[in-house]
Amino acid sequence: MDIYQLIQELVDKGINKQLIEREDEVYVRNQILSFLHLNSFTQKESLSALREIPDILEEILHYACQEQLIENTLDEREILSSAIMNCFLSKPSTINHTFYQKYKENPVEATDYFYKLSKDSNYIQTKQISKNSSYKVDTEYGEIDITINLSKPEKDPKQIAKEKAAPSLDVNYPRCLLCQENEGYKGRTGHPARANHRMIRVNLLEEQWLLQYSPYVYYNEHCILLSSVHRDMKINKDTFSKLLMFVEKFPHYFIGSNADLPIVGGSILTHDHYQGGRYEFAMTKATDDFLFKIDNFPNVDCSILHWPMSVIRLKSKNAEEIVNLSDHILQTWKKYSDRTVDIIASSNGEEHNTVTPIARKKNGIYELDLVLRNNRTDDDYPMGIFHPHHDVHHIKKENIGLIEVMGLAVLPARLKEELIQIENFLLGRSHQIADYHKEWAQELKTNYKSQLNISNIKDLLEREVGKKFLRCLEDAGVFKRNKVGQQAFRKFLELL
Ligand SMILES: [Zn+2]
Repeated sequence: MDIYQLIQELVDKGINKQLIEREDEVYVRNQILSFLHLNSFTQKESLSALREIPDILEEILHYACQEQLIENTLDEREILSSAIMNCFLSKPSTINHTFYQKYKENPVEATDYFYKLSKDSNYIQTKQISKNSSYKVDTEYGEIDITINLSKPEKDPKQIAKEKAAPSLDVNYPRCLLCQENEGYKGRTGHPARANHRMIRVNLLEEQWLLQYSPYVYYNEHCILLSSVHRDMKINKDTFSKLLMFVEKFPHYFIGSNADLPIVGGSILTHDHYQGGRYEFAMTKATDDFLFKIDNFPNVDCSILHWPMSVIRLKSKNAEEIVNLSDHILQTWKKYSDRTVDIIASSNGEEHNTVTPIARKKNGIYELDLVLRNNRTDDDYPMGIFHPHHDVHHIKKENIGLIEVMGLAVLPARLKEELIQIENFLLGRSHQIADYHKEWAQELKTNYKSQLNISNIKDLLEREVGKKFLRCLEDAGVFKRNKVGQQAFRKFLELL
């Protein structure tokens, strides 16, 4: 296709999406021309109003590769496409100004604006995300979400070779994947292109924090709130205050933090950050196993959730009292050991107990969930005693972080193909399955025998994957849902 036509199509789409105005047309077009080493422009009608920005960009990138303006590798393509999309975006100060103008009217309008902007600017990788395979499974704990993560672009051999050959400069900029230094950063081999990335400034407890969306959203309006300072994740009393302060400002969002220890935390422990969004997880809707009160905190209603992990839910109109009680629970838990259920607070000078906290505000009532975690390992469980055990690793062996805790399984891409192989195996069409699935596949074959057919196999496998994920959560639970575990849980609550 004609490059001038493509550029015009992209510019027209930008106007249509209200990224820019008609007044900006010539200016933005000229910027794009410079990225494509073009010195002139021949006016063309844009042909189609139907194509979306990622599709038009892809054709422009194809042109750039053909003309040898860039190498056809993942990073060079992303650097160019994010630079082109940056032409459509205002500077951070202007975007923050617009955000807070809208916020004055209504916080929902503000986040709606910023979410749409983050998608239209192609910062959120909508096209990649649409490749994910997602479904819900009904369980005794409610409807849990399963996502097979196919959105992260696969690196081709050329890209891998390039990364290997890249001089290991002592580049310490941007300092990490989350740091504010990413806002507008061009990108390089080994660090993502962020020219089209913008962040919203949010004050929490006299500190500046930054709100952004995840480029690979796992659920609606999946956002990340990060400290403007590069410092380690730390769960303490201030964390609880900040989480509640955030839901005070944005009551339509929940916000939670990954735990601050390896094995039970998320993938980034070196930059203090939280994750939130506008989505109701199964855990949000979980019922109470039982209710209780804790002395000295008369205004907080406490309950234990009906959930595979060990969760204390606190509810009150009084945020300060929730914060104080949360801190009391955290401090008590950090020192707590109960060898009858393998909970040991520290070994070799290393602390093992922490929490995954999640905050919400519903009808004027604050809600804070504290999920008790322990990251100890031993000879039987070298990857973690309260971590998915070996027999479920064929489905998931990664950390049970905040998102999984709430009931959304993010499963590895390999499963897409592997589950099809298992379907074929169960239907007797083939015997080719990965070794690590064999035991499970054989078990399913024995259990379901004659019931299996082409019309129910998919549902059945989806349900079975859901069961495996629940097992992962049960493994991560510190107080098991059996008699011994529940007695031990009550013993801990007595201490509170
Ligand atoms: Zn950082």
